[in-house]
Formats: sequence, structure tokens, C-alpha cells
Amino acid sequence: MIFLLCSNLSSLYVIIIIIITTYLTAFTLGLTHSSQWSEHFPDCAGSSQSPVDVVTSLTKYDPSLTPMTPLGYSQHNHQPFTLLNSGHTVMVSLPGWMGLGGLPWLFSAVQLHLHWGSGGPSHGGSEHTIDGLSSEAELHIVHYNSELFPNVSAAMRQKNGLAVLGILIEAGDETNPGFNNIIRYLSRVRHAEQEDLIPGFDISSLLPKDLGRYYRYNGSLTTPPCYQEVIWTVFYEKVKISKAQVRQIS
Ligand SMILES: [Zn+2]
Repeated sequence: MIFLLCSNLSSLYVIIIIIITTYLTAFTLGLTHSSQWSEHFPDCAGSSQSPVDVVTSLTKYDPSLTPMTPLGYSQHNHQPFTLLNSGHTVMVSLPGWMGLGGLPWLFSAVQLHLHWGSGGPSHGGSEHTIDGLSSEAELHIVHYNSELFPNVSAAMRQKNGLAVLGILIEAGDETNPGFNNIIRYLSRVRHAEQEDLIPGFDISSLLPKDLGRYYRYNGSLTTPPCYQEVIWTVFYEKVKISKAQVRQIS
């Protein structure tokens, strides 16, 4: 099931997507095809795997959903963040006092990371697709259920343990200053396992303006170990970065 929450000044409506297409992006751990993942990680063969293709004509209204509320995203207090090249993505560690409201439990931030590809409207680098079309890239902000679990390790195998925000990124004409807080430092972590401190910045500058319209479904981590305990929120509004910025992350 996928739910879409939409809100504006006068109305609140939510749509459920009943039929979804599941596929996986193949990379990491030396396994070149997702079909191999399940040999080592049984969850990767599960029935609730992410990412998905959102078929908008099959979405349905769910009045129980509420807008997402970032908590402390802007209170970086000039503390530096750690930027890490994990070998298959670029990741920024986030402090646990950043969190996420708008879900039945309070979730604490863990990290954010980017997915990207070769570009093009149908061959982009996003993991989620909308009606079969991908975007240039996708940002994931990972949180764990800190009301029920003591840390992310304990949460990631438990029901409702994780909540991930998915932000689809497309190319535009203007430089996105929020994303430059990451992109300008990518040259420091060109190689796997490299990490460096970067200046703290307002994480909400990476989000779309409209946090009240999104697709909601229960899915999984998109790479091994593929645990199927993720509450996914993929925002309807895409974020634009400049073509030059796209080139820098591609
Ligand atoms: Zn991801």
C-alpha cells in the first residue's frame, strides 16, 4: 500500500497506491545484480522491498496521515557534520537530537545520503520512480524509532523501526544553495572510506517546501541487508539543483 498525503490551506486529502512495482538498484558488496543479494541477505527476496515505482493513478486518500515535521533540522549550532564516502554512496552523519515528527512515534535522525545515476529523464539516478520516470538523483534522510528502541542497530530489524524521507532531485537552472553545503565538499571524499568534517548547515534547506504532500508506504532498506521495517515518505514535490550541481554528484 502506498499513501499520498496532500494538504493545502483549505483541504487535506491522502491517496493510497494499491499496486506498486518493486525493483532494486544493483550495487554494493560486490554483488552485481540484486538477484544475488538474497543469497546472502534473505530479506532482499521479501515482498515489501524498496524502492518502488509509484503509479499515481492507483494512489488513494488516507485522512489519517499528517504533514511531516522536521525537528531540530535547522539547529545545527555550527557543529560540524561528518561527510563519508561509504564506497557506494556519499553520507552525512546526523546528530540524534535531530528528529522527525508527523508519525505515530518520535524518530531520531541517523544520516542522510545520496543516490545518483547517469542522468536523463528515464535513466536518472533516483531509486523511486513516479509513473515509471526517474529523477536525476534522490536524497534519503534516515531516522530510527527512538521512542521504542535505544539505537538504530536495535531498531533496524524491528517493525516500524526506521523512517526514511525520500526527496527526488531534478536538474534546473539555478544553483541550490542548500545542496551546495554537501556538493562543494565532495572532492574531499573522492575515495571509498574517506571522511572529513564539513560545516554544519540547516538540513531543512535540502527539503522541498511542501512537506504535506507525499507518498507513504511500508518498505525496506534499498540495499542489503534489505530489512523490511522502513516507513517510507517520498515527497510529491521535487527539489531542483543546477545542471552543474548534478554533474558534480554524478
Ligand atoms: Zn538510500
